[in-house]
Amino acid sequence: MNSRFPTRAARVTPLEAARHYASCGWPVATGAYVTETGCSCGDVWCGEPGRHPIGTTWRDTVTTDVQVLSIRWVLTPRASVVVETGTVFDVVPVSHADGELLFRLWEGQGVPPVPVLSAAAGVLVFTCAHRDSESGWMVLPPVCDSKGADPSWLVPVTSANACRLPTAAQLSRWLADTPGRARTCGLAGGSAAAGAAVRSMRCRGRLR
Ligand SMILES: [Zn+2]
Repeated sequence: MNSRFPTRAARVTPLEAARHYASCGWPVATGAYVTETGCSCGDVWCGEPGRHPIGTTWRDTVTTDVQVLSIRWVLTPRASVVVETGTVFDVVPVSHADGELLFRLWEGQGVPPVPVLSAAAGVLVFTCAHRDSESGWMVLPPVCDSKGADPSWLVPVTSANACRLPTAAQLSRWLADTPGRARTCGLAGGSAAAGAAVRSMRCRGRLR
């Protein structure tokens, strides 16, 4: 089966990315970054170098003010781009196979693709946050290290598609409608593989 995934977007600087996400209405904070000796957080045992928020009060610093973000990234140009989840948007993990089927479904139905991120163990589809959403975070591209497993956009978020994120129920219906679907990760926790992909990108009590 030929891939229906769109061509991946060119890399941008962390500041350019931060300003873009903020302009789409997504709350942004500066995150840790990879240094020559490990992680900028200074923890020699850091398990997620360059892939986590800074400190325990990072939620107090999230903003969509692009001028504030510009100043922060001038001060820390290598900072990773952390966005808060569970307030404006959520992410739902699906397998790579189901992600391809979703693209085929959208193509067949003429549905404009919603923001989709490719991660090591799955595909993350962006949906609206809902009242039961769990607050958390994720590090969005560009991730400042050289690992090949860095997440990348398959469908980048734009100011247009950020305004029409599907609900979790809509995504559930799409997944149910995908013919030939090999396996779903579901909407309540997902498969172990895709769940691990999200856990690697979201807050799970490992704030520094
Ligand atoms: Zn760290």
